Amino acid sequence: MVTASREFQVMVKPIGAVCNLDCGYCYYLGKKDLYPKAKLFRMADDLLESYIVQHIEACPKKAILFSWHGGEPTLLGLDYFRRIVELQRKHRPAEREILNGIQTNGTLLDEAWCRFLAAEGFYVGISMDGPKELHDRYRITKG
Ligand code: SF4
Repeated sequence: MVTASREFQVMVKPIGAVCNLDCGYCYYLGKKDLYPKAKLFRMADDLLESYIVQHIEACPKKAILFSWHGGEPTLLGLDYFRRIVELQRKHRPAEREILNGIQTNGTLLDEAWCRFLAAEGFYVGISMDGPKELHDRYRITKG
């Protein structure tokens, strides 16, 4: 495995382009059409583990940052992210630190999600366009 010569960031999209919103300016929703035969957009457990191992090995810094994006990553469910943290703990070298960031539209965040994200120290980015009259103009639901 090659270790990078300097810090880098990978935006991981374990649910591909699947999202529960239908924002008017979204550049990514259409990427789902690149996989017309796909029935399930969900990074499989073995691939997830391989990615985590390889990302840890490739990162040159003591602190290893994972950035979870979508689509909407919270559609994968809380247990999926519990598994991510479990795999990271399994493969984290003793002297290294693992950090997680998640970018979400925030619509599915409830008490359980917030407790998990806080307990595991996730950096949380919530996509918003501003006050309601601006936000609701383009950030619409599928319906
Ligand atoms: S929340 Fe993000 S991924 Fe979902 S439709 Fe809006 S811009 Fe696209």
